[in-house]
Amino acid sequence: MPGRIREEDVSTVRDRARIEEVVRETVTLKAAGGGSYKGLCPFHDERSPSFNVTPSKGLYHCFSCGEGGDVITFVRKIDALSFTEAVEKLAGKYGIVLRYEDGPGGGGSNQQGQRTRLVEAHKVASAFYQQQLQSPQAEHARAFLIERGFEPESWLTFGVGYSPAGWDGLRTHLRSRGFTDEEMLASGLAVSGQRGAYDRFRDRLMWPIRDSGGDPIGFGARKLSESDQGPKYLNTPESPIYKKSQVLYGIDLARREMAKQHQAVVVEGYTDVMACHMAGITTAVATCGTAFGADHVKILRRILMDDDNNHAQVIFTFDGDAAGRKAAIKAFGEDQKFVASTFVAIEPNGLDPCDLRLRSGASAVQALVDNRIPLFEYVMRSTISDFDLDTAEGRVAAMRAVAPILAGIKDPALRPEYVRTVSGWLGMSESALLSESGISNRKTTSNQSASTARVSAPAGSQAGLVEREALKCVLQAPQLVGAWFESLEESVFTIPVAATVFATCVSAGNPLEFTTSSDWVSAVLAVAPSDEVRSHIRAMAVEPLPLDAPDQRYVQAVLARLLEMDAGRRIAEIKGALNRAEDGNDAQEQSQLLSDLLSLEKYRRDMREFAVGDQA
Ligand code: ZN
Repeated sequence: MPGRIREEDVSTVRDRARIEEVVRETVTLKAAGGGSYKGLCPFHDERSPSFNVTPSKGLYHCFSCGEGGDVITFVRKIDALSFTEAVEKLAGKYGIVLRYEDGPGGGGSNQQGQRTRLVEAHKVASAFYQQQLQSPQAEHARAFLIERGFEPESWLTFGVGYSPAGWDGLRTHLRSRGFTDEEMLASGLAVSGQRGAYDRFRDRLMWPIRDSGGDPIGFGARKLSESDQGPKYLNTPESPIYKKSQVLYGIDLARREMAKQHQAVVVEGYTDVMACHMAGITTAVATCGTAFGADHVKILRRILMDDDNNHAQVIFTFDGDAAGRKAAIKAFGEDQKFVASTFVAIEPNGLDPCDLRLRSGASAVQALVDNRIPLFEYVMRSTISDFDLDTAEGRVAAMRAVAPILAGIKDPALRPEYVRTVSGWLGMSESALLSESGISNRKTTSNQSASTARVSAPAGSQAGLVEREALKCVLQAPQLVGAWFESLEESVFTIPVAATVFATCVSAGNPLEFTTSSDWVSAVLAVAPSDEVRSHIRAMAVEPLPLDAPDQRYVQAVLARLLEMDAGRRIAEIKGALNRAEDGNDAQEQSQLLSDLLSLEKYRRDMREFAVGDQA
């Protein structure tokens, strides 16, 4: 049970710890005037900075979620520490000696909080491993590093060390420094055995894993001998201070450069991080024993201060093989959380940055990163490469596979560019790709009856995009939509939420009767059936249209496209029904359907002309 830290020492910590410096370990801050700073709030997800730090008052506050406090509160919340542990962490950082109420003369070491003790154990272990790397027994470990182009001076920068073979080298050392078996077990440095704790890492090359403030919290360990039955890489298990989903190796070294260069390079291993930093890529980090995930995205976003006005770049390096490609596609899924432009750097011969530097030098690593391509492009190319583009069927199938990816591109300025690029690869016209992809999610198996209910397209599909854009026009430009509103029906919307929003608009009245779009939006919100629908309406009412001020031409093109796509779906249904009528020799039915088909096809042509032409 830790004793109470003396009140005056807590005050000293509060006074001497610089809040902006402490916050900057987690959040990139920009000057906000008046001596204050702002950044992206680490306590809630946001796109524009509402998290403020005021050093003159020693306080932080988020204007969005209300989180706030002093430097100790910040450390407690961000690292999930107790009050005592937070004060101890700050005291350690600023070299303040703490005294405890219950203990005599400054208190015994057993009065410190758990985090402090576990970090302390890691510091001792790290120094021990580094020293062991110089020992005669570590010759193979040194050879491993030299063979990979890492000279002794780099060992120090990265704190590389060696865990001796045997069972109790570190344990004995930690005991001599006053650490208990319990602490060794809690830190993950030791494993529980029949005769007490024994060393977890034996005869391995050791990389200390540090948090963004530089405190060692775990180790990555590589096997060196064939006799080692364990996995090639072994990492610290989850512990009170080590959460693998939130750890990035190299973050302590890369953090400042990431904020400065608005760039992060994500590589796959410890030696790759070393090779990148030594080749001048000082923004390189790696995940430790886990795939890059949502928590990693959050950490990078806060450091890169990635918001709508500041597009930082995140560059993944992957092996060019199938596994690397799978990883890229997985990261693409995660990437949807990024506003950042995400890129991949792929070495054609499948060399990782470590091997590449060894074989071709530092400039080759730099070139690898320089030759990055957008992740979207990479994923689309890989997707298309599965199909035979020499056949019409192959091209259509490729287009269907690629349509949802195109629709998933968040940046409306980039989307047309990619549609153009992809249509080029597929040898199809842009308009074909656009309009065809509207029905690309429909099943086309021969036994499907054309009269079955509409298959609703996913919200991210081309149909979903057009439907959303149409509703944005309806909400934001009611006067321009004007008479077109009357020709829309709920059934033209295939996305359920779009259909609901449209139905809500209909029940709010005629947009032409409202002089301003804000009156119109208020009227629509007032009749919305639920909070969820209201939040969709609000989003659509503010999401920017591609033009600063929407014009008649644009609104008309969007609505005509929507109606054209709907006509396309109805034509497909009628054609199916016509086939069945022919099979059944029902002449009257056939002639009716044919007449419907002709008028629908004319309607579709008209709409297409409205969508692309100059009709007013
Ligand atoms: Zn917040």
